[in-house]
Amino acid sequence: PIDIDDVEFCGVEVDTKLKCRHGLQPVRRVAFEGTDTGRCFISCCIEDADRCDFICWYGPEWPMTMKNALQALWKKLDEKEQSMYCEIDSLLNHMLQEKLKAEKEKEDVETEMAEIVAEFEKKLQVMKTTVEKKNKWSRFT
Ligand SMILES: [Zn+2]
Repeated sequence: PIDIDDVEFCGVEVDTKLKCRHGLQPVRRVAFEGTDTGRCFISCCIEDADRCDFICWYGPEWPMTMKNALQALWKKLDEKEQSMYCEIDSLLNHMLQEKLKAEKEKEDVETEMAEIVAEFEKKLQVMKTTVEKKNKWSRFT
């Protein structure tokens, strides 16, 4: 099982003749998973995936009422976690929507700017033509 650091029960277990499947002295651990939460056991001293499956529980299983309570606690934690993920999910979704909206607004502004520039250039052209006509006319008068 998953275990948790506990100063009350840790380190190499010297009071046993049991060895793990590697032939190594086992270490003391406290379970932090399911209905075994808080139970003491000894297991392989290796900390990574190479840990062998040797395990020896100390003391009896918890009574049914304790198991039920632990199960309820883990379930509650699981639900909390789920709702947190949902919240993060909807927050991310909201941010994405805002980003898309901002991009659309930027596009709209750029289109509007391009239209204004085009309109301005058209007016400028008209003015230029008018001035040219006027100049031509004034040469004759
Ligand atoms: Zn081992």
